[in-house]
Amino acid sequence: MRRERGQVSFASHWGRSVATRAARQQTTFARQVSKQGIGLHTGAPCGVHLGPAEADAGVVFVSDGVVVPAATDHVVGTERATTLGSGTATIGGVEHLLAVLWAMEVDNGRVEVEGPEIPACDGSAAEWVALVRKAGRRKLSAATGEVKLTEAVWVGSGDSWAVAAPAARLAVGVAVEYVGTAAGRQTLWMPLSSRRFAAEIAPARTFCLQQEYEGLLAAGLARGGGAGNAFVVEANGYSKPLRFPDEVVRHKALDVIGDISLCGRRLAAHIIAVRPNHRLNVELARALRAAWQEIPRQGWSQGEMTR
Ligand SMILES: [Zn+2]
Repeated sequence: MRRERGQVSFASHWGRSVATRAARQQTTFARQVSKQGIGLHTGAPCGVHLGPAEADAGVVFVSDGVVVPAATDHVVGTERATTLGSGTATIGGVEHLLAVLWAMEVDNGRVEVEGPEIPACDGSAAEWVALVRKAGRRKLSAATGEVKLTEAVWVGSGDSWAVAAPAARLAVGVAVEYVGTAAGRQTLWMPLSSRRFAAEIAPARTFCLQQEYEGLLAAGLARGGGAGNAFVVEANGYSKPLRFPDEVVRHKALDVIGDISLCGRRLAAHIIAVRPNHRLNVELARALRAAWQEIPRQGWSQGEMTR
């Protein structure tokens, strides 16, 4: 056990943590698509243009001409949303779009951003699923590999913790507890496929707790949150009809998937997050990245791992 950066109190992995196996050909968008909207936190107009990128480029955001790769090294904020940045450019609220790209297996793409945030849409990732389907996917000639853990990677802080455990396939488990609210205790366990993600995770909307809501407004956050893109969890109910009885934990799973994608590789692992938040999720992504950076490039099996 050792101390990690920030407020995370432990982050552990033991020995050689990863191996790789061939998965499939890399993909990118087949055509360009765009979407306009407003930011959840700033309420400012914003937009994105999704377009193709070359093999091994990964997902890159472009803001005011500055290229910001979707990677843990470029995370500059985790307060209520995940913000990427480089130099003077910052892009808030990247996690829902990133979750869709990861779950729907778009490996490489260029995301041109207008404004300070990614559009909040209806607070869920459903519109991003529709947009990515509209863009379509094109196969590239290079292969992509999948990281298969051989040891668990574990991070935690206080009563929040997350572990990535060795497994044959990617699955996500999340547990949340909001004492004294309608949400109470909720758990979710799901082997991840693009079909299940689109149907069961992507439609779950952003929420906040009643007691947080006034504070958020006072702090200048959630200005866009009154416009139909979030719901409030109250003591005995919700501010809007729910899409799923456990919409709260499903949305948390969406955030976990988007943040973990910042590790930059496809994973075969069981990810379990208890009382997660963006900071914890990003720390797990960082710990995963640290685990495989210990292995020299030539250690990847026969070039299967191409990015
Ligand atoms: Zn979210």
